[in-house]
Amino acid sequence: MNTIQSIIKGFAFSTIAVLSFSNCSKDDTTSPTPIGSTTIPAVYTKIYGANSITTDGTYITIKSNGTPDHKSPYYATSNALYEAYSGTTFTGVTFMKNPNIITTQSFTFKIPLNPSVTASHTPTGLGPIGVAINGVPFYNQYAGPNNQELTGEIASFDKYYGHPQQSGQYHYHVEPIYLTTIKSTKSGLMGFLLDGFPVYGPQDENGTTVTSNALDAYHGHTHATIDYPNGTYHYHFTSDSPYLNGNGYYGSAGTVSQ
Ligand SMILES: [Zn+2]
Ligand SMILES: [Zn+2]
Repeated sequence: MNTIQSIIKGFAFSTIAVLSFSNCSKDDTTSPTPIGSTTIPAVYTKIYGANSITTDGTYITIKSNGTPDHKSPYYATSNALYEAYSGTTFTGVTFMKNPNIITTQSFTFKIPLNPSVTASHTPTGLGPIGVAINGVPFYNQYAGPNNQELTGEIASFDKYYGHPQQSGQYHYHVEPIYLTTIKSTKSGLMGFLLDGFPVYGPQDENGTTVTSNALDAYHGHTHATIDYPNGTYHYHFTSDSPYLNGNGYYGSAGTVSQ
C-alpha cells in the first residue's frame, strides 16, 4: 500500500466533529449535549485524490494538488507517470500534444455542505468550476474568453481526456475516462461542482446513456442515486456539448482558491 492509499484508507474512516456545548448548571449531572455536531457525509470520502477534507458545518473544504493519478504525456519525462501517447482522443480526433507540462497546484475548494438552488444561476467561469474524485479540477465547455468554442482544444486531450493549460494546471472539460472506466463506472460519482451538487458519469444507474437533451439548461436533473437514496439534483457528463455544465451553476456556488 502506498502512502496515498494509506492516507485515503485512514481518511475514509475518520470524521471531524465540531462540537459546542450549552452552559450547564452546577447541579446538572447529565452529559452535555453536542449542538451542531458535524460529521463529513460519507459521499465526500469518495474524493480519494484530496489531501484533506474538512467541514465547518456550512462548507466542505477540499484541498488537492490537482495532479492526475493516471499516466499522461503531459507529465515531465522524469515523472513516473509520464507516458508518451499517440493515437486518437475524445470524439476520435487525432491527438496533438500542446506545449504545456503538468505542475503541482494548491487548490482549496470550498463547497456548500447543503447545496441550494438559486434563481440567478451564475455562469461558470474559466478555470476550475469543480473537483473530480481524483482531485483534478473540472473546467467548463469553453476554451477561452467570450465563449470560445472548445472544438480546437479537443485534439490536445490526452488518452484520459484531460490536458494542462499554460500554467500547467491539468483539467477535464469532458468525461474523465480514467475515472469512468478504471476507478469508478460510467454511472459513478465523478466529483462536485462548486455549488456542491454532485457530478455523475455519462450513464444513469439503470444503464441509460444520458444526453444533453435529457437534462435541463444547467446540464442536470433530479433523482435518487446510490450516494443520495433520497434523491438529489446532479450533473452528468455527456458526450455531446456542453459536456458537463450548461448555462451556469444550478445552485449557489462556493469558491476555489489556488
Ligand atoms: Zn482546457
Ligand atoms: Zn441522473
